[in-house]
Amino acid sequence: LFKGYIEGVPKESDMEFKLGNGMKLEAPKGSGAFLVKNLYLSCDPYMRGRMRDFHGSYIPPFVPGSVVEGFGVSKVIDSDNPNFKPGDIVSCFTGWEEYTLLRNTEQLRKVQPDDIPLSYHIGLLGMPGFTAYAGFYEVCAPKRDERVFVSAASGAVGQLVGQLAKLHGCYVVGSAGSKQKVCCFGILKASFSQFMHNIKYFPEGIDIYFENVGGAMLDAVLVNMRVHGRIAVCGMVSQAGIGASDQQGIRNLFSLVPKRVKMQGFLQSDYLYLFPRFVEQVGSLYKEGKITYLEDMNHGLESAPAAFAALFTGKNVGKQVVCVART
Ligand code: NDP
Repeated sequence: LFKGYIEGVPKESDMEFKLGNGMKLEAPKGSGAFLVKNLYLSCDPYMRGRMRDFHGSYIPPFVPGSVVEGFGVSKVIDSDNPNFKPGDIVSCFTGWEEYTLLRNTEQLRKVQPDDIPLSYHIGLLGMPGFTAYAGFYEVCAPKRDERVFVSAASGAVGQLVGQLAKLHGCYVVGSAGSKQKVCCFGILKASFSQFMHNIKYFPEGIDIYFENVGGAMLDAVLVNMRVHGRIAVCGMVSQAGIGASDQQGIRNLFSLVPKRVKMQGFLQSDYLYLFPRFVEQVGSLYKEGKITYLEDMNHGLESAPAAFAALFTGKNVGKQVVCVART
């Protein structure tokens, strides 16, 4: 359960466990609902935005005392809806609980079990993977041989951006917060000072910056952009939970003008018409062995609060997932 609105970086103690009230494991007749067993839950940075009492965002805040919600992969176990039958696997918006009664099918997709791991439907082939795909192709408008920089490059979104950029024929450098992450991905770690003092990895500058972290990293990148470069602002996780007055001021924004750089924020949800094409293309690339995807798998529902909080201290290595049950 979400305990109550928070300030600052999320902590494990911002959520609490409660034993269910013995709800019957069935979909009530005439309800049109279906009951799912949750298998995998996704921890995503945007959920931090739902932990504050702010109603002006693209998604409403969590209700204190209610079950945390997020993307998941679940198995239908009972159904009063003709479109779903027991045994169906769905990728959906669900509760952080063992079983959830679902009525809303808005963000739901049926998953055909194949040789792609089920949990990838909340990562590589789910919202984060789609964010990478839409952001890279639609917002960055990449060209072959361009120089691409990705921050949080080992994360759920960043790891796919880097691989798509390489497959596109770009020169790619990513940053990550620890040696372990850098080793996992074979990416380079460039320090802020290297960026600030005409950087080692981009002697001719950056054409495309896929922005995931904001703050000092954005400032450092701004002065190293090339003429007509593009910055896709996907997120600024370093600023999560920092009040407006304490947010890091960006000093180098004026660089956008002489370099004619285009900087664009985006939401993956604006591009959902591309989702079927994304699943087809990225699913095929995975099956052909052209891309890989690393998950940080946490086991048991009780591991979920800590797994979520870990996103904001960089403890996750790869896509942060909670396995509630395997089947
Ligand atoms: P990640 O798997 O990348 O996990 C978050 C990572 O952010 C951490 O592992 C850490 O990586 C980095 N990080 C955390 N705190 C800080 C900090 N204070 N300073 C610098 N880096 C920090 O998350 P996702 O891939 O799921 O999300 C990446 C970004 O994409 C986020 O900003 C998220 O909000 C955004 N997003 C945007 C969407 C959209 O539609 N626009 C949709 C989905 C995600 P490291 O240790 O390497 O620094």
